[in-house]
Amino acid sequence: MPQQKLIHPSLLTLHSYLDTFNFLLLTQFQSIPSSPYLYAMTNKEISRALRLAAGLSELHDANPFKVRSLNNAAFQIDRLGVQLSTLQPGELTALPGIGKGIASDIAQLLNHGSFNELDELLRITPAGVVSMLEIKGLGPKKLSQLWHSLGIESPGELLYACSENRLVSLPGFGTRTQEKIKEAIEYKMANQGILLYADAEFIVSEFIGEFEKIANYTPVVVSELRRKMEIIPSMELLADDSSDNLIEILKKIETVDGIDFKEEEDCIEFRFREQYEITIHLAQNEGFEERLMLLTGPAEHLEELGLASAGNGINTEEELYAEMGYPFILPELRDLPLEQAAAIDADSLVKLSDIKGTIHNHSTWSDGANTLEEMAVAARDLGLEYLIICDHSRTAVYAGGLSIGQLQEQWEEIDRLNSKLAPFHIFKGIESDILSDGSLDYPDDVLAKFDLVVASVHSVLNMDEERATARLIKAIEHPATKMLGHLSGRLLLSRKAYPLDYRKIIDACKANHVIMELNANPRRLDIDWRYIPMCMENGVKISVNPDAHRIEGYHDMRYGIEVARKGGLTTEFLFNSASRDEIQKLLKNW
Ligand SMILES: [Zn+2]
Ligand SMILES: [Zn+2]
Repeated sequence: MPQQKLIHPSLLTLHSYLDTFNFLLLTQFQSIPSSPYLYAMTNKEISRALRLAAGLSELHDANPFKVRSLNNAAFQIDRLGVQLSTLQPGELTALPGIGKGIASDIAQLLNHGSFNELDELLRITPAGVVSMLEIKGLGPKKLSQLWHSLGIESPGELLYACSENRLVSLPGFGTRTQEKIKEAIEYKMANQGILLYADAEFIVSEFIGEFEKIANYTPVVVSELRRKMEIIPSMELLADDSSDNLIEILKKIETVDGIDFKEEEDCIEFRFREQYEITIHLAQNEGFEERLMLLTGPAEHLEELGLASAGNGINTEEELYAEMGYPFILPELRDLPLEQAAAIDADSLVKLSDIKGTIHNHSTWSDGANTLEEMAVAARDLGLEYLIICDHSRTAVYAGGLSIGQLQEQWEEIDRLNSKLAPFHIFKGIESDILSDGSLDYPDDVLAKFDLVVASVHSVLNMDEERATARLIKAIEHPATKMLGHLSGRLLLSRKAYPLDYRKIIDACKANHVIMELNANPRRLDIDWRYIPMCMENGVKISVNPDAHRIEGYHDMRYGIEVARKGGLTTEFLFNSASRDEIQKLLKNW
């Protein structure tokens, strides 16, 4: 994947990663050259363009005859013995399956790299929808349903909808189709080389497991993965070994191929399980610890430290920091400004074991996969003291949002389960949609009955900063709101956060005693950890919530904690470090 070489981690910010990723997606799916002067299109490229036009036409309900003739022409061109670019314009219509209209499209493709009809189709279709056409198992008809019924406009949104079990409600979609689509997107994304932290961490741990079966040592993780960044542009490790020895080990691992020793960069690149690129750096020419620090980065941190002046004979990272006059700084804190990171007492940072209860969870009452009882029992078995169930509110019809009548029934079930499962406790919560004017989703007298209201935006995500901020502040100021769900609406690697004035939002949370959620779904990790210091400075507490739609979703809390530590969150500011009794008291006397 030569394109990946263009995106060196230290050169780019998170947002440009996202742009680059989207760019890669688009260029891969629409490889239509922009300049006709570079080279003439090959038959393969022409048939691809025609197929794209056919797919888009079908998506927009064009005449089926038109769709068929585009597909048929593409099929014939693939089989042609001669390159179309070598033919005279008049000769095109003599070919099988190519009528006058298509001949004109081909002529335009050869002259301009596109044709009018395709341009028009691309203009009226969101880029993310275009890229979804390439997903295996998803034809234009199914895609049209997803786009028009569920409002899904990018592969990332689709992946998220699969994980929220949303496709199964559509006619013609079953659990198996949903699972297949999910796998196809994950495969495609993995091949772009940029991964979510959770995925990269899993893949690397699988690799290390196989490595350890052969070798008598373990390579250590470096770069973004060691710093627990939310997005991992490349999976990199460091080994205290010689190149010959390491190559020998890698050759013995069945799931490794494409081993490539880069002598100048002192590293070995290879493919794992046929699709993941992994790099192992060697510590042949420098000290291991020094290389560990350099490869962990980030560049700004090393620069602030003045690491270039490190002396020889240093044995550990601790000694390296001491040499520079600093205490040891945990890798996950190294993305913060140096002085800020150095002032943090590592022992005060949140740990997974600090979490006493799970807040913001779904059940089969709305779009979850497990019943309320199953969710409660699983939470109890994890050692948690309480579950705050927050199914979707009535406006979220796509997610089975609860009517006022259904709320009554759910509360009765909660009371029943509470007497059965005591001392474990289920609190009555709701994830209330924030409507586009900032109001909440039930009348005030209904909202007042919940133990806890998490207010979240799920629709109209395209507001400008001023409107989006005003909308959220109105929701924060509602007396029923106790927590703000997935603040920015981002879906990592697929949907950018909507713009917000964080200063104003955090001030409003402080003034109205509203807790900020850190949504621990690895695709969200929202609020962004970069704003955690601002929350803490203002006394705004943070709740690390799994937004679990199934029992397994509870495990996502781990990713929430990892990323909360990056922002320096201390246990004292973790809302759900409160015990059941403490929460009960807090909720009563809000
Ligand atoms: Zn939500
Ligand atoms: Zn939710």
